[in-house]
Amino acid sequence: MSQKKAARTKATKSTPRSAPAASSKGLHSSDLREALSWTITDIHAQGWARGTGGNFSAVRRRQPLTLLMAPSSVDKGLIEPDTLIEVNEAAQVVAGNGRASAETLLHVAIVQATGANAVLHTHSVFGTLLSAYYAPRGEIVFSGYEMLKGLENIQSHETRVSLPVLPNSQNMAQLSQQVRDMLQRHPDLHGLMLAGHGLYTWGESLFQARRHVEILEFFFELTYQRLMLIPPHRRG
Ligand SMILES: [Zn+2]
Repeated sequence: MSQKKAARTKATKSTPRSAPAASSKGLHSSDLREALSWTITDIHAQGWARGTGGNFSAVRRRQPLTLLMAPSSVDKGLIEPDTLIEVNEAAQVVAGNGRASAETLLHVAIVQATGANAVLHTHSVFGTLLSAYYAPRGEIVFSGYEMLKGLENIQSHETRVSLPVLPNSQNMAQLSQQVRDMLQRHPDLHGLMLAGHGLYTWGESLFQARRHVEILEFFFELTYQRLMLIPPHRRG
């Protein structure tokens, strides 16, 4: 049976009420195209990549480096396994139809610097807002919460997780070099933010990277709500 037929067969077996359980098979699929397209449409459904915003990649091959990605300017809610493209480390499309995102070089920088096998980049409301708000201090910090343990290698709420906030730029060659430098200085980062733009996070697997998106987006919303509880003149 073709992958497409198999996906359709799975889809017809699920009912609307059992959608989350049926969908999780997509994330755990041994077919990287199916797992990545499920992840992208799920992130879109959460409202973290509206319009054609955000971009997402998984490493298909290390030598030569080949990333599986959604094409640029495509609604992320409409991604199917066979619409994904393959790009090389110079951000050139080597398989599939469509253009590579301008931000592909950032994905390349992250997978080369960290050894990650998946990079997920969201444009959520809270991520956009907080990355602009915390840009002057250059980082956003989370501390004291149980949910931090959802991040890889974090064992306790008594910890301090920092996400650096870099100035946004349209010069991707320069920005990707800044990201490489940052990851060389701080190899243990779980993610980074571009001011007024959004979050980049990654993981050893697509599963881990997606968990990091969920945890960090949780903390963006929590941080915003916490700020709302504090009188304006005391907000930091
Ligand atoms: Zn972006």
